[in-house]
Amino acid sequence: MNSNLPNKYRGRLAPSPTGYLHLGHARTFRIAAQRARERNGVLVFRNEDLDPQRCRREFVDAMMEDLQWLGIQWQEGPDCGGPFAPYSQSERRSLYSSAWRRLRDDGWIYPCTCSRKDLVLAATAPNDADDEPIYPGTCRSRNEAKHFATPKGINWRFRVPHREAIEFEELHLGPQKFTGGQDFGDFVIWRRDDVPTYQLAVVVDDAEMQITEVVRGADLLKSTARQILLQRALGHVTPDYSHCDLVRDQTGQRMAKRHDSASIRHLRESGCSREEVLQQIEVLTK
Ligand SMILES: [Zn+2]
Repeated sequence: MNSNLPNKYRGRLAPSPTGYLHLGHARTFRIAAQRARERNGVLVFRNEDLDPQRCRREFVDAMMEDLQWLGIQWQEGPDCGGPFAPYSQSERRSLYSSAWRRLRDDGWIYPCTCSRKDLVLAATAPNDADDEPIYPGTCRSRNEAKHFATPKGINWRFRVPHREAIEFEELHLGPQKFTGGQDFGDFVIWRRDDVPTYQLAVVVDDAEMQITEVVRGADLLKSTARQILLQRALGHVTPDYSHCDLVRDQTGQRMAKRHDSASIRHLRESGCSREEVLQQIEVLTK
């Protein structure tokens, strides 16, 4: 563990209320809860509800209720408060704005006017199905960032140091290495519809909430490299990371891609007991 982190283990559950929790989420959250418990640590529930287009209040309540039904408990969260309140990202925008100003002042970000269509046309290299195309750098030399008082109305991209190796020790998967500009390009930290992106919000919150270990799905491995760059730019300590293997259903489809029959809510409503649902989660682990 990094020596300048707090002594006490602090983990987090950080779901986005865009639908009901499914078995794959529940599995990751059970691992996170277990790691916190084994280390006598604190578990934080963080509601990642920044995107007003996709997030709904009813899903926040449903997520918390389903997790509690499964026996997963947290010590800080939107329902029980805590020293780092508020625990819903939609109420933490001033923190993200401060981070945006800092990145702007230090020259880490630039305004990008490329449309989605521009980026698709410019993409030369194939990219992973789940990842964004590498940004071709069209707006990278724009240096008028300091003239903007707010991020509103334009996309803001982070200048990824090209050819720089980003290496980190991953607790579950071992040593990882990504190369800036090669594995991923300049990424958006603030969207033109005035929504801070996942990358920025998570880095700000993990630092602010003094999270010592991040447990999440392996689909976010590359995001961890992006977030390490943001942590460095903002002067934050990098927490430990443990990425859980991705689980697929019987048809080979990623659990995260479906929100219907594999949802905890659906299983509960169709009469499954807690033990039966836990058993289904156990099966995924094998
Ligand atoms: Zn651009």
